[in-house]
Amino acid sequence: MISTTAIALDATLAKAVAGERLSPDEGLQLLDSHDLTALGRAADAVTRRLHPESYRTYNIDRNINYTNVCSAVCDFCAFYRKPKSPEGYVLERDVLLQKIQETVDLGGDQILMQGGMNPDLKIEWYEELLADIKSHFPQVNIHGFSPPEIHALTKVAKLPLRTVLERLKAAGLGSLPGGGAEILVDRVRAAMTRGKVMTDDWLNVCRVWHEMGGRGSATMMFGHLETLPERIEHLERLRQLQDETGGFTAFICWTFQPDHTDMAHISRAGSFDYLKTQAVARLYLDNIPNIQSSWVTQGLKIGQIALCYGANDMGSLMIEENVVASAGTVHYLTLEQIRGAIAELGYVPRQRNVFYELIDSPPELAPVW
Ligand code: SF4
Repeated sequence: MISTTAIALDATLAKAVAGERLSPDEGLQLLDSHDLTALGRAADAVTRRLHPESYRTYNIDRNINYTNVCSAVCDFCAFYRKPKSPEGYVLERDVLLQKIQETVDLGGDQILMQGGMNPDLKIEWYEELLADIKSHFPQVNIHGFSPPEIHALTKVAKLPLRTVLERLKAAGLGSLPGGGAEILVDRVRAAMTRGKVMTDDWLNVCRVWHEMGGRGSATMMFGHLETLPERIEHLERLRQLQDETGGFTAFICWTFQPDHTDMAHISRAGSFDYLKTQAVARLYLDNIPNIQSSWVTQGLKIGQIALCYGANDMGSLMIEENVVASAGTVHYLTLEQIRGAIAELGYVPRQRNVFYELIDSPPELAPVW
């Protein structure tokens, strides 16, 4: 006999598959469920409705961590060094440009530039950096500076948020990565970070950037101090902002990587929780078009299967990754592995840019005799 819980779950899943918006209570009902198969099937149906194409995408970019010096303290971060630390660095310009050249040589069209909140770097330093990169590589999109970095820069520069964003955009900033979101609930943020932007200000950086015509991604790092209702609250805040601005191109979630951090006592969330949470995100975020797999934290096998649990994109062939690598397992894949993982699922692998426009040549169609 089918339980009333299963019947209620089926009704909620059917609602999402049909394109109806889920309430926070319904989102929580899904997260509370252990029926991963049902959640995955529904998330995949929504993905196929939103992306009926025969392909799935990936991107080629490089994560450049221009500085590890940070004025904040995040208990989950093994990457940062305090100001004045002998282990602190700011990448030399020629090293940074060389990294971009290597990215371009590998067919990349973008750099993801993120770092700590370095109080010694003024807005003029950022403007000069962006202009320098653009003068050497005008074709490369600079996906740069997460909302916490932008927010911290407004404090260093003593300038309004919009002015800071306008100056960075004028200097060459192309799009905004949604890093540093962790869980967008102040209780959780206050419990594990000090000196870092809180929820409303994180969202407001994205809001103003979107109002200026900018685009960017949204993220969630889960599996640490948050409750399941707080995961839903995070998704709800993103969905509300997306209703307002429409500026998020994609959502990426990953599990907290505890090694070498001050939260190493928290056990690593498993693949079940990762796939379930991503599937629920696909069902809940009805207004964010793309979901990226996080194979960097989950590995090739789960990263591939994530394409059957709500993701339509394999994310980036990351030529370099330092932040997650500092906190435990990090996986590296070759372009062939990413393309092969997509192809094995029956999709054509296609390269895209940050705006999800296809930028490779279409594969040759087999002749029809
Ligand atoms: S997560 Fe970011 S803001 Fe927090 S300590 Fe690390 S570099 Fe600084």
